[in-house]
Amino acid sequence: MKLRSRVPELVAATARETRSALEYYRERIRVLNPRLNAFITPVDPQAHPATGAPGTRRLAGLPIAHKDLFVTRGIPTTCGSRMLAGFVPPYDACVVERLDLAGCTLIGKTNMDEFAMGSSNETSAFGPVRNPWNLERVPGGSSGGSAAAVAAGLVPVATGTDTGGSIRQPAALCGITGIKPSYGRVSRFGMIAFASSMDQAGVLARSAEDAAWVLREMAGHDPRDSTSVGLPVPDYVAALTRGVRGLRIGIVQNFFDEGLWPAVADRIREALSVLEAAGAQLIDITLPHLSLSVPVYYVLAPAECSSNLARYDGIRYGHRARDPVDLTDLYCRSRSEGFGAEVQRRILIGTYVLSHGYYDAYYLKAQRVRRLIRNDFLKAFESVDLLAGPTTPTPAFRLGEKTADPLTMYLNDIYTIGVNLAGLPALSVPAGLVEGLPVGLQLIGRDFDEETLFAAAADFQGRTDWHRAEPPGFEEGSG
Ligand code: GLN
Repeated sequence: MKLRSRVPELVAATARETRSALEYYRERIRVLNPRLNAFITPVDPQAHPATGAPGTRRLAGLPIAHKDLFVTRGIPTTCGSRMLAGFVPPYDACVVERLDLAGCTLIGKTNMDEFAMGSSNETSAFGPVRNPWNLERVPGGSSGGSAAAVAAGLVPVATGTDTGGSIRQPAALCGITGIKPSYGRVSRFGMIAFASSMDQAGVLARSAEDAAWVLREMAGHDPRDSTSVGLPVPDYVAALTRGVRGLRIGIVQNFFDEGLWPAVADRIREALSVLEAAGAQLIDITLPHLSLSVPVYYVLAPAECSSNLARYDGIRYGHRARDPVDLTDLYCRSRSEGFGAEVQRRILIGTYVLSHGYYDAYYLKAQRVRRLIRNDFLKAFESVDLLAGPTTPTPAFRLGEKTADPLTMYLNDIYTIGVNLAGLPALSVPAGLVEGLPVGLQLIGRDFDEETLFAAAADFQGRTDWHRAEPPGFEEGSG
């Protein structure tokens, strides 16, 4: 049986051969995951069966993996941290619940950077994930397990979250498609919080078409998340056939800076000329404050994380140190033992920028610059329908290459973070190989206009084959 990655085909195949898709992917996880470490917890399909009434299940039988940041009832949820080792949630995240209702079957919880802080999956307490394109390279992060699993054909689709690039960057580095919807499009209920004003759930898949099928089920208002919007969810699958003809696409000049590898720039320019040949109009755009995205993010995200992670005190939540001598010792040791170095670094920075005397100089100033960055995007969207550029400055780097220098690691998100600060939807599609490693084209849309992203990405994928490229050694079809 040659099961391809297309969700509609899998759903149709499941209607004929019940359980075959599940067995096929579970077997691939068993055989191939040891090379990748993409899963923290493989899940027996019986453990978390689909719940929807048969007639309403638009994704009946579709195997899915969830980033281990979505809480799953009865199934361990670690967020990549020792702090939550042994935590078995008593409820499901909204995303999990909705995909269950749509007929998806959970087959695993994927590895991730600890509390979603990282760009390489190396901050996970459960060991790094390897990139299926080259096992000595990182898959990107923080949704690196989801990206590696989809790229290697261990699962057709997976969920992820994106606070500063964590869906788009690993999708780009693993050669798959990843969409971060607009802030507020998908409920954050049951997503373990990192930086609440930017965290957003999305999909990692082979193609825009697959992602559209899954996002259509995940999205929509949820009264349990006060930041989820009341807008109706458009039919993203219907949007796939709209095409790019007549669209004005702004090429973000700031992204073609000195940090971008020339060979990556070449792949992106080739991809843009495909869109131009398909009838899109390319327009140069400059976003004056975009260069401030990384510094602004690394004030705001740590500030929010220091507050969100205060709940893990060894009493109300999480790992508890043994034999404390007093309360301070209990707090200090529980948090020092439970959190890894990167999480501790972020909590320290966040506590500092929020402290009396520094709040105005750092936190408030960063909030103001955040508004300027969003205004730049809004201004650009007065004259274009989409923005485009590379997703990352380089292809996947080596394991260990950037771990000693957090600043170099932070700079890997330079093209993705502005979008989170502005709350916009964005997507990454495979745009070719550089030195045998995938690179991604990033498209950015107007607020709540995921449809135009899907339209452009599907048109591009109708004209290119990069999303069909499979990492050597992980080709599907032999199952
Ligand atoms: N790499 C960024 C960080 O470490 C973004 C992570 C994310 O999007 N969750 O904060």
